[in-house]
Parts: sequence; C-alpha cells; structure tokens
Amino acid sequence: MAKRVRIDCGQVIAFQGGEHRVLDGGVVVLEGETIVHVGPSFSGEVDEAIDARDMLVTPGFINTHTHLAESPLDKSLVEDVGKRQFYYSGLADMLPARSAAMDEDARRACVDFSMAELIRTGTTTVMEMGGIGDYVADAVERAGLRAYIANGYRSGRWFTRDGKKVEYAWDEEAGLRGFREAVAFIEQVDGRANGRIKGFLSPMQVDTCTEELLRLSRQASESMGVPLALHVSQSVFEFQEMVRRHGLTPIEWLEQIGFLSEWNILGHVIFIAGNSWTNFTGDDLAILARHGASVAHCVWVFARRGLAMESFPRYQAAGVNLCLGTDTCPQSMIEALRWTAVIGKVMARQTEVATAGDVFTAATLNAARMLRRDDLGRIAPGAKADVLFWRLRSLTMTPLRDPIRNLVYNATANDLQHVMVDGRFLMRDGQLLTVDEQTVIDRLQEAGERMWARLPEGDWAGRSIEELSPPTYRPYQA
Ligand SMILES: [Zn+2]
Repeated sequence: MAKRVRIDCGQVIAFQGGEHRVLDGGVVVLEGETIVHVGPSFSGEVDEAIDARDMLVTPGFINTHTHLAESPLDKSLVEDVGKRQFYYSGLADMLPARSAAMDEDARRACVDFSMAELIRTGTTTVMEMGGIGDYVADAVERAGLRAYIANGYRSGRWFTRDGKKVEYAWDEEAGLRGFREAVAFIEQVDGRANGRIKGFLSPMQVDTCTEELLRLSRQASESMGVPLALHVSQSVFEFQEMVRRHGLTPIEWLEQIGFLSEWNILGHVIFIAGNSWTNFTGDDLAILARHGASVAHCVWVFARRGLAMESFPRYQAAGVNLCLGTDTCPQSMIEALRWTAVIGKVMARQTEVATAGDVFTAATLNAARMLRRDDLGRIAPGAKADVLFWRLRSLTMTPLRDPIRNLVYNATANDLQHVMVDGRFLMRDGQLLTVDEQTVIDRLQEAGERMWARLPEGDWAGRSIEELSPPTYRPYQA
C-alpha cells in the first residue's frame, strides 16, 4: 500500500467544475504519487501529516519550451546586443558561435544547472527539445522532475558569411537520419522513471526542415500519439524567407503541407501575418485555432530584445491554446507568468486582459490539454501530486486577498518553500534535495569561461566575447 499523506493548507488552488478555484483552508490527501482528495476537510486515516497552514498550495507549472543544454549560457552574453540587420534576432548572428564554442561538458553542466533552476522557480513538468536527450533523461531521473524529452533534428542550418544575409546549408539525409533516431529515442525513453519521462518529436525550425521531413514528423506524431514541436514565426528573417520560398506565411505553409494538428506545440509564433514587424496581411491565428494547434509562448526571450507577441489576448480571443515556456535564461516560470501578463497588457493597451488567471491557466491547464494529460496541471483527485508550496506570510505575499494575483505580480522564487513531483519532495524548506546546488553553479561558471574564450573560433567574423557582447562598464583601472 502506498503511503497516505494529509496536507493541511492555508489556501489551495483546487480544480473544480473544469477550472481552478480558491479553497480557503482545505486539505489535500496523497497516496503515493497521486492526489486522492481535495476539499475543506478529511476524516480518514493517514500515515503522515504535513502542516502547510501558512502556505498556498498550487499545481506545479508545465514549462513547454526549453533548451536545457544551452540556455544557462545565454546569461551575461546575449543581453543588450542585437543587429538591426536581422531584426534583432540572435539566431543567425550570435547563436552559431555560441553553439560551436560549447563543449560536451558545458552542455551537461547546463542541463544539471537547469534542474536546480527549474525546481527553484516552479517548473514540475518540462519539455526539452535539444540534442542530448540521453543525458537529459538521466539528469531528470536523478532530479525527480517530470519531463517530455525530444532529440531535435533538422535538414539544414542558418549561417551568415557577411553579417548581412542569412543563408542556409542543407543536408537532407542528416535530417532524415535525425528523425529516425528521434523516433527510436522516444521508444527507448518513454515511461522511464516511473512514467515521469516521456518522449516527443521536435523537428527544429520551419525554415530548416524540408517538407518531407515535416510530413514524416506529423505522421509519426499521430501514429505514436506524441506532441510535435516546431519553432515557427520566431524571427522576421524566417518569415520573409518562407514568403520568398512559397508565397505563404510560415503558418499558411504548415497548413498547406498538412503539418498542423492538436498535437502541435509551436514555439513562439510571434512574427505572423498582422504583426507590425511583418506588415503582411493574412489570418494565421484563425488557421491555428482551426487545427487546434498550441503555442509555446516564451515572452522573455523576445521582450528582452524589444520584441513582442501582438498580442496574448488577441491570440486567446482567436481561440489559440496558449501555453508558456522559458526558452532562454532565466528558466523561471514565475518570471514567465509575470512578463506574459505585463507584456500582454502593454501590447493590447488594456489593463483588464492577460490577467493573472489567464497566465496561471496557460501555465497549467492549457499545457495539460495540449499534452492530453488530465492528470497534470491541477489539484484534483486522480491527478499526479506535482505540487508547489508558497509562503503566504512573506513580504511579497502580504496582504493576502487574491493569492494568484500576489503570485503573478509579486512573488519571487524565495516565496517557493517546497516543491513536490510525484508525491516526492524535490525541494523542502528552500533546500534542494536532489541536486547539489553549489556543484552545478561551479560547473556552469567553468563552462562559461571555456565557452567565452572559444567564441571567435565559430563566429563568422572571428569576433571575441568583448566584440560580440561588450561589457556593461569598463573595468576599473588599478
Ligand atoms: Zn526554442
């Protein structure tokens, strides 16, 4: 018999009538990895009781877009720099140099660092679409998180030889090989770690995959019953490239080749028809809504560069299923919720839209819908015990009236007291239990120093770190 645990709560975001509701006081009961009861009281026998009467208990966040093997090394490198020529996308200018400069141990250091960062900032389920899935699966299993893992693949890559134009180098056979390996990886990884690990498909970008590769991916997603990710409408140059190739927007082309489905989790979808940066007519949102495709909205990676979805409430109104992701650094879902609400309001020039409830639902129930998991993103009988415990008596959470508004507009990672996945604590009283925090910090620092030194080798112009990313202030002269 699994151990039965009773949690006495200050407040619970409990699932009732198909939506989140606020339950004052409240008791949550777990049996092993599963929530078996939520309600005002509970009179049955239990093996253990947890006193969380000074805490807010919420479902964990589902982070639908990450690159765990790279993102931590965006920090201190990609901020405050960008090229007008590429409409402020770093994809063709800076990314190739960074990727070339990262050694295998640097990628692993990023993955291990990410485990700590994700747990501390509220992610309990993560979707990772990089290229070292085996290592990620091992790290996830050790850390105790829940994960959907893909080994990304593509038929070509971007580069620039002059800093003016984006060009594509194609290797279609490598794309097909990558696809076959990605399918085999799903079969091998699916169900690992007590079912916490599952696989999905991630052809990498709309402009770097052939039509054949995308069609094969769509068929495999359907027959295997797995999510299908793709970066699309993520830069102005990509949008213009697709218009040049097909006379269609990227989304229109995906519809034409039969790629769109309810299994889609499309990364970004920022530069669509109707966005002010593309200045192009069409109704991409209606197409997405028609096919039930979901969007992984990663507000920060764009907002940091002065770019934004236009707008979160408009996509919602069109019927697009919006999920949230962190993409770059910081890999904090707390920040993702806050910035999605704020930028959503700024772009709509309205206050009463992109509300705390909208973004909290996006980070939980909307993502669970895309994953077809009615046991995730909610506190309800039968759901997995993936639970966050927030301090209620903190500076940021007081005064307490509307817990979700306090959480979205005020909370920090310091308010997150315990994190539980599958009924097991990964963090308790602010201490990570499955990751050695100092070790992952030290390894990431060393990885960064190695990478910064090697940046000129992979850069089209051989630029140094100081040229690629000038320091904020000059060093003090001794
Ligand atoms: Zn991405």
